[in-house]
Amino acid sequence: DYHIPVSGGITKEPPMHIVHIAVEMAPIAKVGGLGDVVTSLSRAVQDLNHSVDIILPKYDCLNTSQVKDLHYQKSYSLGGTEIKVWFGKVEGLSVYFLEPLNGFFWAGCIYGRNNDGERFGFFCNAALEFLLQSGFHPDIIHCHDWSSAPVAWLFKEQYMHYGLSKARVVFTIHNLEFGAQLIGKAMAHADKATTVSPTYAAEVSGNHAVAPHLYKFHGILNGIDPDIWDPYNDKFIPISYTSENVVEGKKSAKEALQKRLGLKMADLPLVGIVTRLTHQKGIHLIKHAIWRTLDRGGQVVLLGSAPDSRIQHDFVNLANQLHSSHNDRARLCLTYDEPLSHLIYAGSDFVLVPSIFEPCGLTQLTAMRYGSIPVVRKTGGLYDTVFDVDHDKERAEARGLEPNGFSFDGADAAGVDYALNRAISAWYESRDWFNSLCKRVMEQDWSWNRPALDYMELYHAARK
Ligand code: ADP
Repeated sequence: DYHIPVSGGITKEPPMHIVHIAVEMAPIAKVGGLGDVVTSLSRAVQDLNHSVDIILPKYDCLNTSQVKDLHYQKSYSLGGTEIKVWFGKVEGLSVYFLEPLNGFFWAGCIYGRNNDGERFGFFCNAALEFLLQSGFHPDIIHCHDWSSAPVAWLFKEQYMHYGLSKARVVFTIHNLEFGAQLIGKAMAHADKATTVSPTYAAEVSGNHAVAPHLYKFHGILNGIDPDIWDPYNDKFIPISYTSENVVEGKKSAKEALQKRLGLKMADLPLVGIVTRLTHQKGIHLIKHAIWRTLDRGGQVVLLGSAPDSRIQHDFVNLANQLHSSHNDRARLCLTYDEPLSHLIYAGSDFVLVPSIFEPCGLTQLTAMRYGSIPVVRKTGGLYDTVFDVDHDKERAEARGLEPNGFSFDGADAAGVDYALNRAISAWYESRDWFNSLCKRVMEQDWSWNRPALDYMELYHAARK
């Protein structure tokens, strides 16, 4: 059992000081879910009256318009390189930005340079040096994935002995596919390690980076930030809605989406997809689902960013083909666009997530927050959060939930068809039932309320 039971009594313990050392943070430096998690977990823990700081590289591509009161604080040096420290508030969180004058983060991007390992390794060292020189004595230093994995061993081998002795290190694997070698070393040095869902924890338990460390390894589900994703208070959608007026709210969001993308303004089942376009996300299944949806008379909107130029090229070709054959029913937006993603979550009837593997997945959770029905492949965190209306009643009940979506096994066209056909048929044939399902999913709590307590429990256990 990878799950940590939540005990009472946490609130009686004195507040903790937690420092995250990370290379992504939503909304100022986000590539994927890691950025969301750093921000939203921190906010949830801060809301429980603990003190949280975040240390981030000062990228030249930071979205500084979302940083409040950004100002220069001081400089220090590490191995002959001067590092400027900036401070600002992001979504109510205190963030220290490190800007080494060797130009490591003047690269125009977060990832994608051929020396990413060197750049982030330097950042990890600089972050620990900053804590030391500033006289910080955090209870917990929390690092994430391969990019801040070096924190774990730099701390245990060096900084712990230099004076940061009070801290314990927690390491979270957001995606084991990236840098498994570094991750194994961090697993060995961390006091506690987590990954982002119980099922993914079980799926990777045999991996050589993880297997020796199962005694300190836990799966804790990610949540979403209910204030950042809130259909009642979202400047990117046309009317505010809650579960009480979900039908009206989604109708107007769908119309706005159709209008914005030049799709036919009609009451058709609309399938939305918001994703990085990589093999992990089930590219062949996404393509198949687009054609299946069109066959069934529906509309499809895909918002996708492809880091690999071959995949980008492939989708540009598909977009050209679809925009000539089905111009009024299919739109592929091959870019990263946060505001558009909000409108898609609100305006879609279904959000498709056919991942080959998925450590947690946030898009299915965000979809439900906006009353869209998830259609997913049964893997990792998708399995832990989506309960099929026809097959998972008991499994949902065990979690105190009612079924909330459609899911499939296998990784072929027949699997996708099985889930998608049932979903679209329900839309055509049982609209009242479908509308009540939209209301139901909106009322489920996929916020950090529960997982933040699990993390606090873990932080306390790390200190014992
Ligand atoms: P991963 O971290 O593997 O990319 P997650 O589901 O955990 O997958 O998180 C993806 C996050 O990135 C979600 O918040 C999603 O809305 C966002 N996202 C992904 N692709 C895009 C895009 N092209 N435009 C805007 N947001 C995107």
